[in-house]
Amino acid sequence: MSISSFASLDSKLERLVANHPMVSVQEGFCDRIRHGDIRLQYKARHGCTAIFSVTMVDGSPMRVLTIDPSAFASALKSDAWWTLVIFHESVHECQYRKGERDPQTFDPTYRPRDRTEWAHFAEEKWYAEREAYQKECWLAQRMGAQHELGGLCELAGTHRFDRQLARLLAANETNPIVRRTFSRLATSTQA
Ligand SMILES: [Zn+2]
Repeated sequence: MSISSFASLDSKLERLVANHPMVSVQEGFCDRIRHGDIRLQYKARHGCTAIFSVTMVDGSPMRVLTIDPSAFASALKSDAWWTLVIFHESVHECQYRKGERDPQTFDPTYRPRDRTEWAHFAEEKWYAEREAYQKECWLAQRMGAQHELGGLCELAGTHRFDRQLARLLAANETNPIVRRTFSRLATSTQA
């Protein structure tokens, strides 16, 4: 990953950020992008329209927000949807910065060595995603944009939320240990 492949906020992202309902995004997350503490790249990542990740570069962790450029340019996703997605990724950045989850949770190159590590990795992933989606749904409701997240937010606060979330996360997951862990936690954690 070379530094030259990174971008600055384009006019659409600047506009979304300037109008963002969350001060933590307007002033915190995006200032960190502007100052280069979080790198921004427009690049297609299979299955993801946007992803916050942390990778080791020359022995130091590098925080990166990756946005799929064709999805971002497309008119199929509304500004409200992108506002929610940016907030979701900012929650992950906060989890990483505050050490709330293992750093490997955000490293797409990390491969656990055995079953125990895979199960632990899956648990960390589950709690990271659960918090990000819960907060995203809270904002969606505030914006009157619950419909943007395909029915998940209508279930917020009920036990069905976790089951729906497990299905959503499993759709992008091939590892059987991770899938089983998601489904176990979805039926055991409280709403
Ligand atoms: Zn997420």
